[in-house]
Amino acid sequence: MKTLQLMLFFSVMGLVSCTEATRSTDSMEVSARHTDAPEKDFKYWTWITANPDKSEEDYTQEFKKYKENGIDAVLINTEADPETLAKLVPLATDEGLEVHAWMFTMNRPGDSIALQHPEWYAVSREGKSNYDTRPYVDYYQWLCPTRKESQEHVLSLVEGLAQVEGIESVHLDYIRFSDIFLPIGLLPKYDLVQDVELPEFDFCYCDVCVEEFEAIHHKNPRDFENPAIDMEWKNFRLNKIKVVVDQAHEIAHENGKNLTAAVFPYPEMADHMVRQRWDKWKVDAVLPMIYHSFYEEDIDWIGYATRQGIADLEGRDTELHTGIYLPPMSGEDLKAAIDIARKNGARGVSFFDGGALTEDHFKAIRDSKASNDGR
Ligand SMILES: [Zn+2]
Repeated sequence: MKTLQLMLFFSVMGLVSCTEATRSTDSMEVSARHTDAPEKDFKYWTWITANPDKSEEDYTQEFKKYKENGIDAVLINTEADPETLAKLVPLATDEGLEVHAWMFTMNRPGDSIALQHPEWYAVSREGKSNYDTRPYVDYYQWLCPTRKESQEHVLSLVEGLAQVEGIESVHLDYIRFSDIFLPIGLLPKYDLVQDVELPEFDFCYCDVCVEEFEAIHHKNPRDFENPAIDMEWKNFRLNKIKVVVDQAHEIAHENGKNLTAAVFPYPEMADHMVRQRWDKWKVDAVLPMIYHSFYEEDIDWIGYATRQGIADLEGRDTELHTGIYLPPMSGEDLKAAIDIARKNGARGVSFFDGGALTEDHFKAIRDSKASNDGR
């Protein structure tokens, strides 16, 4: 009797999961249709980096050009310097652009304050600190997300930017761990094969992380034979990034600003590659970097990844704007990419980066706007 009950229970469970699966596929389509935004609500963004040698006049020309060609918002990297940002905000807003304060978050290359504290940096499974041993490239200088002091430092930078008058959001980039797996298209460049989690790219095994984990879970990650299959250890690290984001969200909102973030293409992929689970964060908008060429994918993959992210965000108060990598794309490609992002539910598109926008790209943006006008 008990066996039969159990069997019935499991078959009902099976049915429920089946129905759930069907419903979630349906609702994906429904939400894609619902969020196929009318043109006035569909936003065009571009990431740009401040250049200290550039005059105000040159900036005004640059911002004017963006606005004339259909860009609505600029994400400006000032290396988290509020003073530089404060000077640029009126130049951009005078031309009718929104300004977002783009910052490097857990990866802090050349951070003069952090560099005074070698213990703030993430430590690899090999026991080497990012302070002096850097994965892949010299500008990878990642901080430990768990340590109180490194967290406070990052959040103080968020606060400094959030206080700048006239910005719309603080925009977190590199809000994750260093890549445990690089995009497949980048591997040959580093002459690497990554078919398992390699110890030199696996972080954070610092004393604080290991002690905190051990106190909760009674096991030491340094002793794991295969740390990749320990779900608590993975989840511990995903949650550490979430803690930083959620606090940044509170700080941004206290200052009347939003929080946005540049993230990996869709949540499972972000989790697998860089330990980033952005569908669980408190964040007002995500700009997933759906850079198809990095992954040797076609333009239709931009639609796949966009739709997946939209489905995963269902029920949350987070907008998704698709990030597009410009350099390999013709004007026609770009027009197709914008259309596919829109059809799959994105609320906008963001281009990397402003300096790479060609006349053909601008034409594609203008055409995209015109063909959707009045919707
Ligand atoms: Zn740590």
